[in-house]
Amino acid sequence: MQIYYKGNVMAKLSSKGVKRLKHCTKNGSCTVCLEPIEDGERVLRGAHYKCYFRIYRKIRSGLISEKNAIQDGIFREHEITGRKPIEVAELPESIK
Ligand SMILES: [Zn+2]
Repeated sequence: MQIYYKGNVMAKLSSKGVKRLKHCTKNGSCTVCLEPIEDGERVLRGAHYKCYFRIYRKIRSGLISEKNAIQDGIFREHEITGRKPIEVAELPESIK
């Protein structure tokens, strides 16, 4: 299965990533913590808002790359959720 993402980062899903996204699509769960996403919950790139920023912080501090996150199915590509990349200026003060 070949999936290429064309967001900020081009990455091919790993087999782990494909499994994760299949699981999350089927169960409607968060791609980060794998817990179900409740109706009306804020979602970013397939993950709970909080979960997204937990990973986003790691990316910003260089612990993992965005490419790795996409490859492992932790982040969905921007276009899939129909959301644009978040500008740093829009991030909550606590994680800047
Ligand atoms: Zn989550």
